[in-house]
Amino acid sequence: MSIPGPRSTALTALLRAYEQRNVTFLADDFPIFWESARGVTVTDVDGNDYLDCTAAFGVANAGHCNPRVARAVSAQMKLLAHGMGDVHPTEIRVRLFQRLAQVLPKSLDRVFLATTGSEAVEAALKTAILATGKSRFAAYHGAYHGLSFGALAVGGIERFRAPFASALENEPVLLDYPRDDASTSAESAALHARETLARRSDVAALVIEPIQGRAGCVVPPPGYLAALRAVCNDLRILMIVDEIYTGFGRTGTWFAIERDDVVPDILCIGKAMGSGIPISATIGRAEVMDAWPISTGEALHTSTYLGNPLACAAALATMDEIERLKLPMRAKTLGESIGPRLSSLRSHRSVRDVRGRGLLFGVQLRDAATASAVVRSSLRAGVIFLQSGVDGDVIAISPPLVIQERQLARAMDTLQAAIEEAA
Ligand code: PMP
Repeated sequence: MSIPGPRSTALTALLRAYEQRNVTFLADDFPIFWESARGVTVTDVDGNDYLDCTAAFGVANAGHCNPRVARAVSAQMKLLAHGMGDVHPTEIRVRLFQRLAQVLPKSLDRVFLATTGSEAVEAALKTAILATGKSRFAAYHGAYHGLSFGALAVGGIERFRAPFASALENEPVLLDYPRDDASTSAESAALHARETLARRSDVAALVIEPIQGRAGCVVPPPGYLAALRAVCNDLRILMIVDEIYTGFGRTGTWFAIERDDVVPDILCIGKAMGSGIPISATIGRAEVMDAWPISTGEALHTSTYLGNPLACAAALATMDEIERLKLPMRAKTLGESIGPRLSSLRSHRSVRDVRGRGLLFGVQLRDAATASAVVRSSLRAGVIFLQSGVDGDVIAISPPLVIQERQLARAMDTLQAAIEEAA
């Protein structure tokens, strides 16, 4: 069947008639409509199969429609689909807290559940405001923490922020995100952060992604997070780490902070946590989280779906699967095995950079048009990649962590052929 096939093409016309036009990019050869997915394979409405190298924005770490997660969610659906977030809790919520405690640093012992990544970030920012009495944030150029107002307030990609800037108070202090290359050391980059932040007294917290995802999988020099931890301690600024993309095994450890042995004051997680059932969390040290007063019957921050039982069931089963299938180790081993193959792409004249860790890689191309051509021709060849990067010139590679070595090799062959074709 052609890609996109006739059903995808017909649905594109219908979508165009209904959906707000900024949401989905529509062209003659893009997108395809997904009908089902299993493991690393996505099937579209025309019956075409694709190898998914996106994990659908880094969500399907444990594989699409993981059977054990599916069973847990359908069992919960028969029991209780929804409860009362901040009024009458559920046992499964307590079980999730206990399970999270097994994989998180001990000192991160107070959890705030939410639904989306943006909400987890907003809860972290509100916490920092309460804990410090300050309301300005430091973040990074290229940072992506979500697009809701609160999350945008620490965003470092100008085009997302600019149309709404008039409604966003308190511009963030934006630092340069250091790259792991010969010209930058963790120490010099941390010194730059120290000098910038020391000049101010109004910063409540620094927010950082351990690897910048949306900016095109930018990896900082090893030791940078640890050096920043010291800067934050010395300047009495809270450290918020956003692991919404990097968490749950993606970079070769349960959480990317483990590599630098860093414990932030507040950690944000989401995406892969629920394998597709929306759930996120903000987790902090008790001394910081206790800036929130004890509830006297009305939560200052909550939402209808806080602690949703289906999402808790999905998260519990996902964590069991990550452990059973040793997915962090798998991401590490597979990432190391394709590293040389990816690095060899550097010799291609339209490739500017290749970087990443675990199963989160970015291949930076000459420009956005080349990246778009690579994504489209890979799609026609049956492999789904995501165009990424601040300037749209990066191909992000973040497959489900259950991917097999031969499937990864096929994805690499397809990517290489697409890059050659686009040149
Ligand atoms: N933080 C990071 C690092 C992300 O990658 C994302 C989503 N791509 C978000 C926050 C926002 O999450 P959501 O889209 O679920 O609001």
